[in-house]
Amino acid sequence: MDICDKAEALEQQQRQQALNNALNRPLEHGRIIDGTKVCICCDEPIPATRLQAAPNAVRCIDCQALEEAYGNG
Ligand SMILES: [Zn+2]
Repeated sequence: MDICDKAEALEQQQRQQALNNALNRPLEHGRIIDGTKVCICCDEPIPATRLQAAPNAVRCIDCQALEEAYGNG
């Protein structure tokens, strides 16, 4: 493998990583509409009290309960 192949492989790897990051970000941090964090399932605003208790929450309480009950990831 010469240096050009190596650089290309590295570039591809970095591009894939950036793509993965971009794809993962919305789920990781939830969905924000007009500065309000909303549930990724039903688009309802997530109450501030819930975000205080669970800052990483991406679902409202109802959807979170469903997710835990039927849990398909
Ligand atoms: Zn919801």
